[in-house]
Amino acid sequence: MIALTDDQLLRYARNILLPEVDVIGQATLLASHVAVIGVGGLGSPVIQYLAAAGVGHLSLVDDDVVEVTNLQRQIIHDTSQIGIAKVASAQAFIRRLNPEVQVSINAEALTSANGAAILQDVDLVVIGTDNFASRYLANTFCQQLQIPLVSGAAIGTSGQVSSFDFARQATPCFECLYPKGQDEQLSCASAGVLGPVVGTIGSIMALEVIKILLHIGQPLFGRLLTWDARVMDWQTFNYGRAKNCPCCTETPL
Ligand SMILES: [Zn+2]
Repeated sequence: MIALTDDQLLRYARNILLPEVDVIGQATLLASHVAVIGVGGLGSPVIQYLAAAGVGHLSLVDDDVVEVTNLQRQIIHDTSQIGIAKVASAQAFIRRLNPEVQVSINAEALTSANGAAILQDVDLVVIGTDNFASRYLANTFCQQLQIPLVSGAAIGTSGQVSSFDFARQATPCFECLYPKGQDEQLSCASAGVLGPVVGTIGSIMALEVIKILLHIGQPLFGRLLTWDARVMDWQTFNYGRAKNCPCCTETPL
């Protein structure tokens, strides 16, 4: 186990004061490698809170460049970054916030060709992209590699989060929750979303990551958390493994 320096004991004091974290938990965060797929509205608070918490290595995956229309909600990017790759903009942000975080950047979308290489040494994947294809792909890779996955989405004035524990047998996957063919390609580009809605959902995703890495409480495994921001209504729904899920046929119930 890593011994924390005086600077680290000071920087992370509010983490370490929590009995659920303590020095051992902080050392675990510092030794953890998390892949963040999607460096936009949801990825922004995820990256902010994970870098601030001292997650030691972040791998960022996104093929977009910063556009002026992103800045209403994608709060790690700013006006001076318009036109540069989102992963490069995010890397610069992390350096300013917490220089001891190691950052790997991949200015490309997650694909079946690059996924194994990007995710091979990762402890956990958190995904907040605006398309279902990359979520199905991340789901498949995480299941194969037996690493946990946190998935969040937000549109308009509502959002949702669920987590997947692929280290355990017979755990439901993303495709059990959303069978292929039922997905709607609704994105922020066409539908709009309020900035604080993605900020809230992204913050919950970051919290799920920390909880899973440190085995705190009950993550959203087998549960879908939904939020209607208009009336501030939070609900959780339990779900199980779908019997005919093609993604889960490799590991029978
Ligand atoms: Zn499944």
